[in-house]
This record gives sequence, C-alpha cells and structure tokens, in this order.
Amino acid sequence: MTEKVIYQLSSPGRMGANLPDLDVPEKPLGSLLPQGSVRENLNLPEVSEPEAVRHFVRLSILNHHVDKGFYPLGSCTMKYNPKINEYVARFAGFAQIHPLQPEETVQGALKLMYQLRTCLLEIAGMDEITLQPSAGAQGELAGLLMIKAFHQKNKEKRTQVIIPDSAHGTNPASLTIAGFELVQVKSNEQGIVDVDELKKVVSKETAAFMLTNPNTLGLFEKDILEIAKIIHDAGALLYMDGANLNALLGIVRPGDMGFDVVHFNLHKTFSTPHGGGGPGAGPVGVKKKLEPFLPVPIVAKEVDKSGKETFYLDYKRANSIGKLQAFYGNFAVLVRALTYILANGPDGLRKVAEDAIINANYLLHHLKEYYHLPYPEKCMHELVLSGIKQKAKGVKTMDIAKRLLDFGMHAPTVYFPLIVPEALMIEPTESESKESLDEFIEVMIKIANEVKTNPEIVREAPHNTPVARLDEVKAAKDLDVRWRG
Ligand SMILES: *Cc1c(COP(=O)(O)O)cnc(C)c1O
Repeated sequence: MTEKVIYQLSSPGRMGANLPDLDVPEKPLGSLLPQGSVRENLNLPEVSEPEAVRHFVRLSILNHHVDKGFYPLGSCTMKYNPKINEYVARFAGFAQIHPLQPEETVQGALKLMYQLRTCLLEIAGMDEITLQPSAGAQGELAGLLMIKAFHQKNKEKRTQVIIPDSAHGTNPASLTIAGFELVQVKSNEQGIVDVDELKKVVSKETAAFMLTNPNTLGLFEKDILEIAKIIHDAGALLYMDGANLNALLGIVRPGDMGFDVVHFNLHKTFSTPHGGGGPGAGPVGVKKKLEPFLPVPIVAKEVDKSGKETFYLDYKRANSIGKLQAFYGNFAVLVRALTYILANGPDGLRKVAEDAIINANYLLHHLKEYYHLPYPEKCMHELVLSGIKQKAKGVKTMDIAKRLLDFGMHAPTVYFPLIVPEALMIEPTESESKESLDEFIEVMIKIANEVKTNPEIVREAPHNTPVARLDEVKAAKDLDVRWRG
C-alpha cells in the first residue's frame, strides 16, 4: 500500500498532452524570453495523462478524508461538504474574475459578499462584519486589534485579555500577537467558566474576555449573561470564538448573549473542505461600537432613487485597523458558505445544529460506560472523554487514536482540551447517519475490550495504514519533500 513518487514513474519523452505540429518558424526559447529565465536543468516528471491521473487518485485514497469515511475531529467540524458548493464556486463568473477588476464589472460577486454579510449578521446577531480574514485565527487577531483600537480611542490603557483554561491554542497566540498580556481563568467542576474566579481576575486592566461558547469541552456556558455583565461593568469587551457555531445555528445568537465581537469559521460551520492548512475564511462580526475600527474595505450597498442597487467596496473608515491581507479574503470560500446557507435555509440551519447536538449526545450515551466521562452527562455538538481507565492498563490515548485508523476512521482530537488528561474530543457533526455513528461506537467498544484482552494490538497500531507512527514534530518542523532519485 505504498505509492511511488511521480519521478519514479517518469519515462523520458513520455507526455500527457498532444500538441499540434509547429506552424511557425522554430526559435530557441532563450531568444524569446528575458535573459537568464530559461532553466538549464528543468527536472520534470514525464508521464502520460492516465499515469498522472491514477497516481493522484491513488494518493488521495492513501489519505483519510471526509469523503472517504468518518472524521470525528473535535473542534474542527469535519462535516461532509455538499458538492453543490463546489459546483457554484466553479461558475465562471465567480472563478474567473480578477480582484483588480473595476467594481461595475463584478457586481454579482460583490452582491454575493453583501448577501453573505447579511446572512451572517442575522445568524450571529451582530451589526457589521468583515469578510476578509482567511482563517479563524486571523479573525481572532482582527477582533483583538479592533478591541485594542476601541480602548485606545477612549483613551484607556487596557493591557490584559482573559481566556479560560479550556481555550483553543489560537486564542493565547492571537492575543499575544495583538500585544496583550494573557490572564487565565479556571473552569469549575462542571467544565464551564468559574464565575467567582472570573470576578477575581477582571480589573481596569482587562481589555476583553475571549470565550468559546459552547466551549471546547462541548458544554454551553450557561452563565453567559452574568459573565457579559461582569465584563461590561468592568469596561471591557466580550469576544466570542465562534468556531463552535455549529451547535448554535438558528437556536441562539452570540449578539443576544452579550458578545461584542464574534469570529466565524466558514470552513467549519458552513462547509468548505479544510484541514491540511486551508483555505478558510474567518469573518468577524461586531456590534455598533466597534464598527469604526473594521478592516478596510467592507462591502456595502447603495440604492438610488429608482431603487437600483449598486454594490461597492467601502474604504472610508477613519479609525480602521487597516488591511489584513491582499484583496478581500478567500472569495471562493465565501461562495461555498453562502451556497450552504441558502441551500439549508433558516429552518435547515437550525436542524443542522440540533442534529449535531443529538449525534454527539448519542455517542456520549453509548460510550460513557467504556471511557471515563470527566464532565456532566449532556453535551452540545461534541463530547470529551478521557482515556485514563485505559492508561491505567498501559494503553495511551494516542494508541487508541492510532488503532481507530485500522478501522478506516479518522481519530478524534486527542490531548485537547489541556485540562482533561488523556482527552479524546469527539465531534461527529450532523452529517453522519445513525449507521455510521453505530459503527464508530462498535469500534470504540471493541478497542476498549482489546485494551483489556490484547493491549499489544492497540499499543502497536496502526497495522493497516501505508505509514504507521510518524515523528509528528519532525514532520512539521523539518519538512523535506524533495525527491533525490
Ligand atoms: C479551529 C478553531 C480555531 C482556529 O480556527 P482556524 O480557522 O483553524 O484558524 C479557533 N478556536 C477554536 C475553538 C477552533 O476550533
């Protein structure tokens, strides 16, 4: 089950294209191009079209992906991505426009962005939005920079941002990059923010509290209204990491819970294929008081006396934090997100959240007997189990994760959130059928039994994958993909 690199398939002179005979005088390439731009040794693989196609199809099968099997990676929302999104994103009018085209020639694209803006504002209960950030993490940075600008405008020097001990790793990273100091607040035994602890750490130094709701333990922060009051009474702002919006769609809105800023992960909640680095989109919705600080440009609409709508990019924003990146964001992800929203409609989106919650609770109910459940018996769209019982038998959570691969399933998120030892964070999403959930339950129970009867098979897993246990740190930090054949 291995695949050669494409250079090993190469055969001199073999081609994947049929070119017509030359009908102009032949000239050496060097005489047509600027000096020095012709490479002497262009080492490209020479393969036929079927060889190239088969090679890449085989590679795609070696990797696990959501079109191939269950992918319960907690927090990442690896739901199935409907193919109609791809169909629409490939419309020539979307796929072949250029970001420097004059606005009057791309009215349709601007209208699409405006419609997405309007839908997202309604979904989140916010007043204005930027569609620019290209990931959740960049959305966090944008939100925090707006919060910083807000306090500066009010001549307040607030240097701290509070986050719970269950926060996603991007939260501390973003607040540090934005120039804030990190203050941590503990979770209580129920796995939610300890309000008394929060009161102790809030001060005149607090710029914002960054909270994920439902949090990374899959639990709804039910004290959110009280939390919002504590934060606002202290003159600080409330930021929502909206990566878990999949659990809230059509049920409750961040704006109504008292949040001043929320970032969306369009690639998660609104279904763009992601993982392996993107692409994504992390729009940020804000309440009125933060509108002046939004990055430029935002998409806007003008209606003339006859009722004709014109869409444009609004750069006039005196207090803007500036521009986040070239152009206006990952436009094709915006197309997919709007397609998904319109295809589901308001009731469909609510059903997405309800089904996501039911699916997670179904898994929780059937697995809690076999794996330790550190927090209450009800969750939102994801559940966190702990492998401490299995650890006591000498099998680590990492072994369980690897063993799952043998059954054609992606592992859940492991060792996160950090406050749960041997954590297994499982997010089935709404797009899984009862049959696929039952299959996962069966496999998880089988592994729990193996830990008791045949721990070696788990400890040495995976047995059926093309590669087994890679050095993940080395693979990330010392990447070498050159072929030296
Ligand atoms: C995925 C995620 C993020 C970061 O989003 P990216 O798009 O990966 O940058 C932040 N917070 C939570 C809770 C997440 O799950």
